[in-house]
Amino acid sequence: VADYVDFYASEQHATNLGRMFRPDSEPLLPNWKHLPVGYHGRAGTVVVSGSPIRRPQGLRLPGPEFGPSRKLDVEVELGFVVGVGSDLGSPVTPGDFADHVFGVVLLNDWSARDIQSYEYVPLGPFLGKSFATSISPWVVPLDALPRVPAPVQDPPVADYLRTDSDWGLDITFELALNGEVVSRPPYRGMYWTPPQMLAHITANGASLRTGDLFASGTVSGDDVAERGSFIELTWNGEQPVNGRAFLEDGDSVTISARTATGAHLGEVEGTVVPA
Ligand code: CA
Repeated sequence: VADYVDFYASEQHATNLGRMFRPDSEPLLPNWKHLPVGYHGRAGTVVVSGSPIRRPQGLRLPGPEFGPSRKLDVEVELGFVVGVGSDLGSPVTPGDFADHVFGVVLLNDWSARDIQSYEYVPLGPFLGKSFATSISPWVVPLDALPRVPAPVQDPPVADYLRTDSDWGLDITFELALNGEVVSRPPYRGMYWTPPQMLAHITANGASLRTGDLFASGTVSGDDVAERGSFIELTWNGEQPVNGRAFLEDGDSVTISARTATGAHLGEVEGTVVPA
């Protein structure tokens, strides 16, 4: 992996987190429908499926006090792999997406919610995310993915984000905890499309490198059983799922996915080991 970027492209996921963390204001911040919000993650800690995940430590409340995360979570995401780079100073348009992106992997953005919620103000995700990101071992070519119309975007987006093709992807994930499926997030409703995310990464002239990885952000649908993280499934731990508010040591999490045409996209697994 060269560089790694993580987006926040699901309106349902962004709305759920906004409701939880900012209950007294609009769930979506004013910029959310004008650009695909994202951040640069840590490429060096992207690990392949099957790698153990050591529970991270960090500062968390009350206190703050340094210690093992008590709110270890997952995020069900799709990762896009860049095959062909681009030149510094030359933005890539949405229409050039398929000239640069080779295919997709399934991705688990492990997240320590207690570390994240204390550290993220005002610059965003840092140590609550950077300890590990797991990906499936095989890259599935774009051509294998059935495309459907993406959601209508209102208000209209800026010119550099305009796309004239249908880039919703008809993929359904399964999130399993210790072998039991707890959620089936659908990708097709994601608000921001992959070509828009790529165009946004390079809109300022930043270049791409072979091996760059950018992720969709948590995939969550409209229904409770379509949420792609435990913080949403359990509503920040208030409503446990299969006895879990968040992950315990020894828990194994597997994300798998299929296309609407029945193609299996593989799986990504990780087991939590003690701090
Ligand atoms: Ca994420």
